[in-house]
Amino acid sequence: MAKADFYEILGVAKSADEKELKSAFRKMAMKYHPDKNPGDAEAEKKFKELNEAYETLKDPQKRAAYDRYGHAAFEQGGMGGGGGFGGGAGGFSDIFEDIFGEMMGGGRARRSSGGRERGADLRYNMEISLEEAFSGKTAQIRVPTSITCDVCTGSGAKPGTQPKTCGTCQGSGRVRASQGFFSVERTCPTCHGRGQTITDPCTKCHGQGRVTEERSLSVNIPAGIEDGTRIRLQGEGEAGARGGPAGDLYIFLSVTPHEFFQRDGADLYCAVPISMTTAALGGTFDVGTLDGSKSRVSVPEGTQAGKQFRLKGKGMPVLRSSQTGDLYIQIGIETPQKLTKRQRELLQEFEEISSKENNPETTGFFARMKEFFDN
Ligand SMILES: [Zn+2]
Ligand SMILES: [Zn+2]
Repeated sequence: MAKADFYEILGVAKSADEKELKSAFRKMAMKYHPDKNPGDAEAEKKFKELNEAYETLKDPQKRAAYDRYGHAAFEQGGMGGGGGFGGGAGGFSDIFEDIFGEMMGGGRARRSSGGRERGADLRYNMEISLEEAFSGKTAQIRVPTSITCDVCTGSGAKPGTQPKTCGTCQGSGRVRASQGFFSVERTCPTCHGRGQTITDPCTKCHGQGRVTEERSLSVNIPAGIEDGTRIRLQGEGEAGARGGPAGDLYIFLSVTPHEFFQRDGADLYCAVPISMTTAALGGTFDVGTLDGSKSRVSVPEGTQAGKQFRLKGKGMPVLRSSQTGDLYIQIGIETPQKLTKRQRELLQEFEEISSKENNPETTGFFARMKEFFDN
């Protein structure tokens, strides 16, 4: 089977730089992604080709080998047939990183002996409201991830066959090459460092030992969780390759800003504007709280701007504790605007009969200032 040129598959020039490659891959992968073309075998084939092309060309070493030897650079040892995601380590997580904004290969897959690779850690960004952080919740998330192939149970080899020791590196995964005076050791281009090659790849996973699937996971978000918290779900990351252990899934939680409440630890703050007359005469108002109830706040006469009232126990629950924080009401005073003629007259009359005792701060301030600058 003649294989199409990797540059042609991605639709880029041979001179394309890393950025052009990535952007071309992203564009094409979005178009042919299996999620967008369910049941379309042609799109699936195209998607696999794209991955293979990109995996090869984005790696400078592999790209150099490809430019020099073409597909032959990767076809010894029988990986050619369906050796899809040539990259090996972290192949799929990179794809997710590219396609799904919120998914990220948190860590590169780690390689262990015998070709077993630990699956990559995955990152999932979750945004919740302050109300949800207040009461806690069970969230259902859908995680696109690769899981162990059930046909070959992760070996990558067709059932009944076994992976073979790589003939190029004799199983070490490294080869030595002379470069002028120096002898340089590098990853074996045949087996990509695994030390083994698969002659008869599993037809379901094309030798990867893993297949992509979207899983639904239930995540428990405890009450009182803070913005920026990271929840680790052990073993829920990408499946390991060829029987390696799975990576972890990290949920990065952010709490969206609330329209009325600012949070500081377990305490909440709410800025409440009141009218000048309420501040002067006193009054009451109701504030809604996160537990769904309302609290009445009484403002005494002569309340000043910046005054704080504490509603005990009306803040956020403290994580894994029975304690709760408080809600602080911060008073702002609104000066009346767009006065009518009558209102203006009343206020002027009010001003005329006002004494120094009505505004001790104002009177005191100007008296002190005068004294300071006169001496
Ligand atoms: Zn398989
Ligand atoms: Zn090798």
